[in-house]
This record gives sequence, structure tokens and C-alpha cells, in this order.
Amino acid sequence: MARLLATIEHVVKKPIWDCRMCGQCVLHSTGLTCPMTCPKQLRNGPCGGVREDGACEVDPSMTCVWLKAHNRSERMPRTLRKEFDDLRPPVDNRLQDTSSWANLLSGRDRVVPDGWQPDA
Ligand code: SF4
Repeated sequence: MARLLATIEHVVKKPIWDCRMCGQCVLHSTGLTCPMTCPKQLRNGPCGGVREDGACEVDPSMTCVWLKAHNRSERMPRTLRKEFDDLRPPVDNRLQDTSSWANLLSGRDRVVPDGWQPDA
């Protein structure tokens, strides 16, 4: 069942958001921009290497994912726009290729690494 759900999720989200199936979806807080498409897979904003024209320093053919995320989040409803500034925990690579929908329902996507305290 979990495998089927992951397959369905991938079929739905890949064409729309280029979903990489990280298993911990944060699209709602990134202006519907998948942070896993950033070459550095950063979850909390740009790396500081954004080029003057807004292009990615790793792949100049693409616009910085976080520049797009910021601009898109400005057009989101107020409640979601506020979440853009939240500190997102590091990616748990053990969830790679699992369904973020299933992990949301089980609460597994909210398990953070030992010692990680966003309010510290
Ligand atoms: S944040 Fe993760 S689950 Fe969500 S679209 Fe990106 S890769 Fe897919």
C-alpha cells in the first residue's frame, strides 16, 4: 500500500513540481516551489551564491530555486506566506522515495534529528 501511494504521489507531483520524492513535502511553505530541485537541495533559502541576474551559481541556466520560491510565496495566501520564514529541519534522507502524504498522516515527517531545536 505504501509503495502504491508513493507511486501515485510521484505521478501527480513530478509533472507539476518536478517532485524528487523526499518524503517530507514543504511545498506549502515555499510558494509551491520544490526545494529539492535546488542543486544544493537547500531547505532554508538561497546559498548566497545567487548570480546578479538571479541565476543559480551551480547551474547558470536555471533561476535560483529560492528566488522563485520567494517571489511565488509573495502571491500565496497570508497564512502560507508566513510559513516561508519558518526554519525547516534538515532533510531526513531515510524518507527518500517514500510518500510524503503517508508520512504526513503518520507524523513521521515531523520527526527531527536528535539535538535539532528550531527555537534554540
Ligand atoms: S518537497 Fe519533497 S515531496 Fe514535496 S515536491 Fe519537493 S521532493 Fe516532492
